[in-house]
Amino acid sequence: QTVVVAVDGPSGSGKSTVSKRLAAKLDARYLDTGAMYRAATWAVLQADAQLTDPDGIYKIVSAASLEIVTDPQAPSISVDGVNVDGPIRGQEVTKAVSAVAAVPAVRQLLVDLQRKIIAEAGRIVVEGRDIGTVVAPDADLKVYLTASEHARAARRSAEHAADHAATAADLRRRDHLDSTRKTDPLKQAADAVVLDSTELGIDEVVAELLRLLDK
Ligand code: C5P
Repeated sequence: QTVVVAVDGPSGSGKSTVSKRLAAKLDARYLDTGAMYRAATWAVLQADAQLTDPDGIYKIVSAASLEIVTDPQAPSISVDGVNVDGPIRGQEVTKAVSAVAAVPAVRQLLVDLQRKIIAEAGRIVVEGRDIGTVVAPDADLKVYLTASEHARAARRSAEHAADHAATAADLRRRDHLDSTRKTDPLKQAADAVVLDSTELGIDEVVAELLRLLDK
């Protein structure tokens, strides 16, 4: 039986942890679309392209081959045969990713690839910013996960052993860019279930989603 779950929300809302656990419980695949935009950005930085040149960015991203492993226990992504799981979480990529993700042709390319992966998987939990609105509008369950800015920055700075204030500033910058860009901005789908992981905690969120899927 196919199941598609769309998990959207701002950075640090707990999307990745929730999505991986839910996928494992459902015996489903897991797709981190943020990792795809990050891998595309890694390719752009490798090629030394200008972040202000959308055509140049698109050329590089369309020539790069992304290989994505959708195992929720060990998700992974490579670009042209090079594993980039480490570098895509670094500062350089994090700083540049919103610019690359704002290029409409890049989004079209990655959205097509995401839809292909979803169709092939059948059972899958997909996390991102535009999954319920653009990538999989027919998803069986749409979740919009939020958390207070303080909780989100605390989680991210713990993950990366980084300074809380700097992390908070980076989240605020990316949230602003991601929710104000012209093409497919971060947005709550009208039919999404909104959950706040500040109050609930990750396990409770997963339990609530399993309950909603069971109905
Ligand atoms: O989820 P993560 O923080 O790894 O996403 C990195 C960046 O990729 C986001 O800040 C956003 O610019 C972009 N993104 C996007 N659409 C998605 C997923 C991520 O634009 N579906």
